[in-house]
Parts: sequence; structure tokens; C-alpha cells
Amino acid sequence: MSLSHDLHAHSTASDGTLSPTELMRRAHAAGIRVMALTDHDTLDGLEEASRTAGLLGLGFVPGVEVSVTWGGRTVHIVGLQVDPGSTTLQRGLLGMREFRDWRAEEIGRRLDKAGFPGTYEVACNCSGGALISRTHFARALVQLGYAETVRAVFKKFLVRGKPGFVEGEWAGLDEAVGWIRAAGGVAVIAHPARYGLTRTKLRRLIADFQQAGGVGFEVVSGSHSRDEYFTMAAHARDCGLLASAGSDYHGPENPWIELGKLPELPPGCTPVWRHWSS
Ligand code: AMP
Ligand code: MN
Ligand code: MN
Ligand code: MN
Repeated sequence: MSLSHDLHAHSTASDGTLSPTELMRRAHAAGIRVMALTDHDTLDGLEEASRTAGLLGLGFVPGVEVSVTWGGRTVHIVGLQVDPGSTTLQRGLLGMREFRDWRAEEIGRRLDKAGFPGTYEVACNCSGGALISRTHFARALVQLGYAETVRAVFKKFLVRGKPGFVEGEWAGLDEAVGWIRAAGGVAVIAHPARYGLTRTKLRRLIADFQQAGGVGFEVVSGSHSRDEYFTMAAHARDCGLLASAGSDYHGPENPWIELGKLPELPPGCTPVWRHWSS
């Protein structure tokens, strides 16, 4: 039995490989009842996804995954049920994409200098003119033969201490949660087990997040292990957070994450979708 809701996924509007339409079709075919689109720092795919989901009779949740700098590290905050027409949210995300454009040029310059030329152009090509992310650089580096796999690229080129790493200067936690709330949405800490935080630090993140008005916690994530479902469920229960579930699907090229395979939330969790109509 797999979960009927998938509240975290990407399309070509950010760093996924399926168009919003293809993503909704695949979700529907996989037996999902309610599907979100949560592209990084953009709302561009939402209209198309919503239209396709409507035609399929698939429940749709308009969302976004906002990049945040907190305590010197990058964390991701998913916004669910956001109004794509919110000017506050749109304006906030525009600033993030401006930073992304500058960062992409800077990553390209650094890789050029380190002896891996031409990545910026190829990464821009991979992004198809949409938002640019490190994922597009990863694909570019593989295409140019500088690395074997997208996984290997991150370790070798794109993380702290490596030649293509540029420090993120993302939204503040308060800002990101504020934009999501201004758009009528619900803020959720994305894949909380992925940040390598100690229990104390994670509790500090949760406290700051709740202080800002955040209410949700992604207990079940495509990037969490079985054990992590249960430890994250305990944090959610202890802190009074609503539980979310999302695959973080980026496309069929990642064979270890497929749509429609998420397990049910562990016992005792209150689903973030408890009062939603679909
Ligand atoms: P960015 O927001 O542009 O810094 O890119 C972050 C994105 O890169 C994440 O959303 C993932 O899709 C991808 N990513 C980050 N780390 C890895 C990794 N180790 N392996 C594969 N993809 C990764
Ligand atoms: Mn991504
Ligand atoms: Mn993320
Ligand atoms: Mn994601």
C-alpha cells in the first residue's frame, strides 16, 4: 500500500526532467490521488500542471521549494497550497533567481579556471532557459565528459571545498516562511534528515521555523531511509508539527526514486493535508 499524496516534486520549470504535464500524467498513472508541484524558487510550472491535473481528475497542490540560508547552511522550505498570483511570493522568488543567474556565471568561471572549460554554456542549454541550478551543471559536467554520473559530479565539483562550489546566499528562514504565508500557503521543512544536523541543531531549526509561522515537517521523503521516517515522525509529534510526505521526484533518470512508491505516514502523525478538500 503506498501513500495517496505526493507533496514534493520537480519539473523542467526547475531541475526536473519531465514537463509539468508529463509529471502530472506520470503521477496519475502511478495511482497518486493528490500531487504537488514544488519547483525550486519558481512558480512557472504551476499553471500547466494545474490544467493537466484538472483534465486527468488528479488532485493538485500548487507548491514551491524555497532555498534558505539558515545558520550558515542551506535548507529547503516547501510551500504548499500557495497562490501563484501572490506578488509577495513572486517578488521574493525573483530575487532568488537573480542570485541563481549570478551564481551560475560564477560557477562557470570557477570551473573554467580549475581546468574544466565550457560548463556555463552547456548548463544553460540543459536548463532550457528556465531556472538554473547545480543539477544543470552536474548534467553539463557529465555531458562534457568531466565525470561519469550526476551523483559523482556533486562530490567532485559542486559541494563545499570543490572547484565549482559557490556559497549560497538564499532567503532568510523568516523571509521564506513569510512569503509562503503571504501567498496563503503552508510552510514545511523539506527532507529534514538530509541536512546532517545533530538532534539539538534540528530542534533549533524547528524552533526558529515555528517562530516564523511554519507548521509542517516532511516526515516521509524519497531521500529518507526507513529509520529516518520514524525519527522524523517523533520530532514532528514532539514539536506539534503537521506531517508531510513527498518523493522529491526529479525524473525517470533517477531510478531510485519513483512516483507512487511512498509509504504511509508512521502512526501518530497528523497529515498536513487533514483539512484539504482533495
Ligand atoms: P541548487 O539549489 O541549485 O544549489 O541545487 C540543489 C539541487 O541539486 C538539489 O535540489 C538536488 O536536486 C541536487 N543535488 C544536490 N546534491 C546532490 C547530490 N549529492 N546528488 C545529486 N543531486 C544533488
Ligand atoms: Mn533539485
Ligand atoms: Mn530540496
Ligand atoms: Mn526538491
